[in-house]
Amino acid sequence: MSSPTPATPKPAAAAASETVKPSNFLRQIIEHDLAKGTYATRHWGGSPGDAAHHAQGGLDPAKIRTRFPPEPNGYLHVGHAKSICLNFGLARDYGGVCHLRFDDTNPEKEDVEYVNSILDAVRWLGFEWNGAADAAPYQASDYFDFMYRAAECLIEAGHAYVDEQSAEAMRDNRGDFGKPGVDSPFRGRTPIENLARFREMRDGQHEDGAMVLRARIDMASPNINMRDPAIYRIRRATHHNTGDKWCIYPMYTYAHPIEDALEQITHSICTLEFEDQRPFYDWLLDRLCEGGLLAQPHPHQYEFARLNLTYVITSKRKLAALVYDKRVSGWDDPRMPTIVGLRRRGYTPEAIQLFAERIGVTKSDSWIDYSTLEGCLRETLDVSAPRAMAVLDPLKLVLSNWDEVMGAGTLDDCSAPLHPHHPELGQRQFKIGKEVWIDRTDFEEVPPKGFFRLYPGNKVRLKYGHVIECTGYSKEPEGKIREVHAVLVPDTKSGTPGANAVKVKGVITWVAVADGIPAEVRLYDRLFTDEQPDAGGKDFIESLNPNSLKVVRAIVEPSLASAKTDDKFQFERHGYFVADRVDHAAGKPVFNLAVGLRDGWGK
Ligand code: ATP
Ligand code: MG
Repeated sequence: MSSPTPATPKPAAAAASETVKPSNFLRQIIEHDLAKGTYATRHWGGSPGDAAHHAQGGLDPAKIRTRFPPEPNGYLHVGHAKSICLNFGLARDYGGVCHLRFDDTNPEKEDVEYVNSILDAVRWLGFEWNGAADAAPYQASDYFDFMYRAAECLIEAGHAYVDEQSAEAMRDNRGDFGKPGVDSPFRGRTPIENLARFREMRDGQHEDGAMVLRARIDMASPNINMRDPAIYRIRRATHHNTGDKWCIYPMYTYAHPIEDALEQITHSICTLEFEDQRPFYDWLLDRLCEGGLLAQPHPHQYEFARLNLTYVITSKRKLAALVYDKRVSGWDDPRMPTIVGLRRRGYTPEAIQLFAERIGVTKSDSWIDYSTLEGCLRETLDVSAPRAMAVLDPLKLVLSNWDEVMGAGTLDDCSAPLHPHHPELGQRQFKIGKEVWIDRTDFEEVPPKGFFRLYPGNKVRLKYGHVIECTGYSKEPEGKIREVHAVLVPDTKSGTPGANAVKVKGVITWVAVADGIPAEVRLYDRLFTDEQPDAGGKDFIESLNPNSLKVVRAIVEPSLASAKTDDKFQFERHGYFVADRVDHAAGKPVFNLAVGLRDGWGK
């Protein structure tokens, strides 16, 4: 497995205050274009449009224009997040504007649920689109009229023709890598004939699939995408935006460059699989600029490596399968790599932006280790998350001398900083009494070598409380430890004079029985056990991790009673947790494990 150049882990504070962004090839291209003034003479008509529309506007106030063009057919995932951070981040850093454009040229039923989830995701990640906080997103289907006009313009100039070959004949005649294509018998038609046929297609006079409009380029091109690609097809389908106005729809490869050009995009950034499409992208826009339809200079396409994250699948279709087959609780299941899933898991926009920044952009495919993503979350939460104590697997500890030393029924006040590095945030308060909950894993009947926590005869400190010495334990009939017994060592309370006179090697976290509150804690682990769950066509269902969710009844300190949905905490010694955005409620707390304190996967 190859990882990207691993940025040296920085202390969180340094990372957060970092202003110098690591360079990458896209930044270099943009800086070069800005220095040369490549796009300095562009005009902007105030909205997307053709050459005439932009010509009547002033010079474009946006120094560059980038875009994020999702198809509204699913929820966005961490791969999209990389693309969002990249495109919106570049626009922000270089005085530009990033467009959000729904790529809805495919007349498939568009789901409002997906549209709204995409708007939410981009906004949540911290970006605004189209240059204003209240701007509407663009929709590719608004450009159908222009696309049609552009097609007629290509036909008139002899750059496109209507092909009536069957789909099979067209496929056979395309040739392959070693074999040039064969001209269609319809390739020599005159522009007048082609125009008449194309209008018949538009007017519904031909069956779906009976013919297509093709660009007329080069059937012998070594790049198969240049062998007269289809640009319009007949398809009787009702479109969510344009209804039944059209029975012909543009192909993606034709629509996309035009969408970019109408929006005056300067740098059109896409994933590597579109590299072979770039010659057609340029060919098409060059022809439409020649025809005077589109403003110059036209956009340029640049490709970068998509994000591949270990233990994660990033395909909307496969993620949808997990949802529909109920392998997860929904698109927002905290184990899902969707933006809504990450958010519910406790990820913050800062963590995701840091991740996008840290992995950078490259020209070659590689796998990013999942721990890189987790590390970014840990770093950002370490700086911001208030601390709290929680006992995830409660075992009762009874202090047998409490009544003598402290007085029967007494509860003693303890306090701890909300954040160890931010005393200004204040203190949290809790009690200690005769009975406290400790984590079952902090006690051993017979200590293994190197175990410094509780075992008979050993002393430990109850963090922020007293030193105690274990005197024994009792067991359930079936052998499980029922209770641990200990005595309080007098005059050892944290923060009081002489408290450190008694030296101990172990410090354990705890919550008093008197004021601890029960909480549901959901311990999440990776959804797949295989590093590359769907690589090489593997059935990813086979590597689903059966232990990816464990729900425990925990006891948490009383300061957490006021936790609100989405609040994040460090449960001391355990990790970072978030109050679940769906199920958490006052009086019924539910916390999700966001990430452990250190990278423990596989160790
Ligand atoms: P999927 O295969 O999951 O459906 P997609 O690429 O078809 O993804 P789109 O909605 O078309 O989904 O993608 C919108 C944008 O997000 C595209 O510009 C695409 O390049 C980018 N994108 C999608 N997946 C990734 C990824 N894994 N890494 C980086 N960018 C991605
Ligand atoms: Mg797609």
